[in-house]
Amino acid sequence: MKVEILPALTDNYMYLLIDQDTREAAIVDPVQPQKLLEIIKKEDVVLRAILTTHHHWDHARGNEELAQLLPGLQVFGADERIGALTHRVSHGQELAFGTIRVRCLFTPCHTSGHMCYFMWEDDSPDAPALFSGDTLFVGGCGQFFEGTAEQMHTNLTQILGTLPKDTKVFCGHECTVRNLKFALKVEPENEVVKEKLAWAKQRDDEDLPTVPSTLQEEFLYNPFLRLTEEAVQRFTGRTDPVEVLRALRSHRDNFKKPKERPNPQAMLAFDWGLFGPFLEKK
Ligand SMILES: [Zn+2]
Repeated sequence: MKVEILPALTDNYMYLLIDQDTREAAIVDPVQPQKLLEIIKKEDVVLRAILTTHHHWDHARGNEELAQLLPGLQVFGADERIGALTHRVSHGQELAFGTIRVRCLFTPCHTSGHMCYFMWEDDSPDAPALFSGDTLFVGGCGQFFEGTAEQMHTNLTQILGTLPKDTKVFCGHECTVRNLKFALKVEPENEVVKEKLAWAKQRDDEDLPTVPSTLQEEFLYNPFLRLTEEAVQRFTGRTDPVEVLRALRSHRDNFKKPKERPNPQAMLAFDWGLFGPFLEKK
């Protein structure tokens, strides 16, 4: 199985999966159809299916257009809000495209209908691959928009965390540097976080993706998979793993990108209440 990493929008990824024997292909989260169609032509493959992780527009917006352009295209997903959906899949369901085998792993929380896709080929030396959408990121996890810390805990520890350690992790967004900056705040002494952050910054500078990682690596630097580590518990002031996760996510939500912070003058004005009338109009 060949995985082509296709950057889309500002920091999304689409993933084209190719069975190199039959030249059949499937695509995960094709938000930019025209870009995908160019690649399909260049690679000379037949696109059989779309695998949608969740209904958010930056993952599913391209479905309708592709379904119109490619009649017979199968569209998989676990949420009725996903455009052009033809096959609603459930947890544990298995699919096959050529020699590529897929197991659907239901991970509700970021959205209530979020599905991850675990893929492998029988009799292949290649490591399996996980397409984790906005549930598990390199160095982080997705926001809890439609779910609870209990659900994300199940997702990370029981559903995804128990996959083979050499599983390659392909996530929905390039947000590794920001995630690892937060990870370093959580665990300032963690050398693996420092090393991975330096590497990720370098990749960013060269405009190269930081995906895939491996599950094994994630356990070493991703605080959301390190809930029982003493340093992570100390940072959150909690010991119960679900509570540690809840507190971590809440800290991460407030760990804004620098550009999202008001500039110092605006903050001063805000402190003095000068923006009051403007705020009231909102
Ligand atoms: Zn999302």
